[in-house]
This record gives sequence, C-alpha cells and structure tokens, in this order.
Amino acid sequence: MKIAFFDTKQYDRDSFEKFRTDDMVFKYFETKLTPDTVSLAQGFDGICIFVNDTASAEVIDKLYEYGIKFIALRCAGYNNVDIRHAHGKIHIFHVPAYSPYAVAEHTMAMLLTSVRRTHKSYIRTKDFNFSLNGLTGFDLYGKTMGVIGTGKIGRIFINICRGFGMKVIAYDKYPADNSDIEYVTLDEIYEKSDIISLHCPLTRETYHIIDEKAIEKCKKGVIILNTSRGALIDTEALLDGIKSRKIGAACLDVYEEESDVFFEDFSGHIIDDDNLARLISMPNVLVTSHQAFLTEEALNNIAETTVKNITDFLTTGESDNELCQKFDKVETCRKCF
Ligand code: NAD
Repeated sequence: MKIAFFDTKQYDRDSFEKFRTDDMVFKYFETKLTPDTVSLAQGFDGICIFVNDTASAEVIDKLYEYGIKFIALRCAGYNNVDIRHAHGKIHIFHVPAYSPYAVAEHTMAMLLTSVRRTHKSYIRTKDFNFSLNGLTGFDLYGKTMGVIGTGKIGRIFINICRGFGMKVIAYDKYPADNSDIEYVTLDEIYEKSDIISLHCPLTRETYHIIDEKAIEKCKKGVIILNTSRGALIDTEALLDGIKSRKIGAACLDVYEEESDVFFEDFSGHIIDDDNLARLISMPNVLVTSHQAFLTEEALNNIAETTVKNITDFLTTGESDNELCQKFDKVETCRKCF
C-alpha cells in the first residue's frame, strides 16, 4: 500500500513513522496538493492531506483517473474537499477529534496574550525595558464570552472560560441536549458578548458568519477569536471594524487566504497579501499560523487515527471515520458506495 502525503513538515513525518505498519509505504511531499501538483499522486494507492491542500472537483477527477482509492484527511475539517464530487469515486476519511483540548487551550492562550499584552512585555524585558506604559489589560472575570459552535472544542473552551469566572452564552445550529449551556440566538451573541469565539465548521451557512452586519450589532470593543476556519470571518469587514475601533482586538489562528502563506517561512520576503500584512501590522491583532492543533498529543492522535482509518478500510472496506455526501449534508457513514 503506497500512500502519498502532501504538505508535510518534519513533525508530520516523525509522528506518522511511529504508527506506520510494515505493509505501508509513505512518501512525504512538502508541496501542497493543488491542480498543479496532483500528478505527484500517480502510482500511489491513496493520498493523505491536511487543511490547506485542495481536493477540488478538478483534483478529484485527476486522482480518480490515477486510480487513487482514498483521501485520508489528517485533520477534522473537510471544507477543502469537494465531498459531493468525490462520492462514488474516492473514499474520504478524516480524524474527527485528536485533541480538542489543544485547540481550546490555544484559543485561551491567544486571548490572554491579547488582553494582558504578554507578547509585548516579553520583547520589552528581553531588551531590559521594564516600562509598563501601554500594557494595561482587563480582567476576564465577569466578562461575557459568546461561543459559536458548541461541539467538542467549543464545550471545552466554555469550561475553560467558566474557570476564569466568565459568563458564557452560546449559539449552535444544533444545540446540545440536556446541557448546562445557556443557548441564545446569534443576534444575542453579537449584542451581548464582550468576546466572541468561533468553534463551528466552515460551511455554506457559516461562511462570513462575522461580516459587516454582524460587526455592526456587536458591542464596541468586542474581541473576536477565530481558531476554526479563516473564511468564517470577512477579512475586509474585520479590518474596517478594527480601523473604526468597533472591534477592540482580534486573535486569529486561521485566515481566509492562509493556504498561500501559512506553514511556510516568508521572513525574508515581501508578502503579497495586503490584507494579511495590514492585520499583522495592527497592535491589537494577534496572528498564529494555524498552530492551535500543534501538540505532541494531537500529532500522535492524528497519526494513529489516520493509520487506523486506512487499515480498517483495507481490511474491511469500511472506516468509522468515512465522510459521505448524502442529501446535501456531510455525514459519517460506514458504507459509502
Ligand atoms: P464539532 O463537529 O465537534 O463541533 C462543531 C459544532 O458546530 C457542532 O456542535 C455543530 O452543531 C456546530 N455547527 C454546525 N453548523 C453550525 C452553524 N451553522 N452555526 C453554529 N454552529 C454550527 O467540531 P470541533 O471538533 O469542535 O471543531 C470545530 C472546528 O474547529 C472545526 O470545524 C475546525 O474547522 C476547527 N479546528 C481548528 C483547528 C486548528 O488547529 N486551528 C484544529 C481542529 C479543528
């Protein structure tokens, strides 16, 4: 069984080699999967991709022509795969949960960094500058956190916020049954929250869930946290909201156009993306490079589950983590076609 991995870094190789079985050959490509690089998949049985690889209809047609039997996503989100187009041609697996704690904890790390300015004081004291000017933050205690999406990550994040003594309100299209979560409407999230954190998937419905209209409804000084998917936020509207001082701060682990830059070192280059350059230049915007998942525990869980998805499929023709497009809705199913 020969599997081509796209968009790999050393940490991917290290974790996947721990779980590789003797009957599997892994070839690690650094390049992302795109229409231009898909030809690298020729001669393989399956491919393994990550968040910024592109498995569009065009790419899927090529993979099918090359005899690729499966795409194993080594992540939870699958907005980068045209699952409808793959149906009946190529099996798609994902890793539904690998460490929701990693993402929830990173979200709080970003929030604390932003409100207590630790990123700025770290640089100051390294330079023996012990001034406190401009470092005034605020207490999270007593503030209202609005959480959009109360799945695995959202719920852990809610508990972390409660540990800080915050009031938490939440919106979810499919609210959890019998939970102690205070669900409100989306408008109430915008109107009542001091901080809004996004933990829903990127779908046609959630695309630009934070747009100009949503920002208009928010409290002045609202902080926006996004560790889910970049296109949940309309970047132009976010920039306008920050410039008009309506948005007090933004913590972004993901960005709409991240696929061209995230995971790569551009430190010696001039960035072409003006919106990203403007965001990074703002003192109240914190950007990390889609790193919320990046813990030892998560990397091991990703590799272990991905290898199990492939092994189960090879031995039984099924995987518990197969994604299937049925009736315009993506579901997990055991027998796709
Ligand atoms: P999950 O499936 O457990 O939870 C998602 C929740 O969103 C569910 O409760 C669902 O009902 C809700 N939802 C669906 N449609 C919605 C809508 N229209 N409006 C509001 N809520 C809606 O997923 P999870 O494991 O908690 O992950 C959440 C997201 O985090 C993923 O979709 C992924 O995009 C992102 N993620 C990011 C990283 C990272 O490294 N930054 C890592 C893992 C996951």
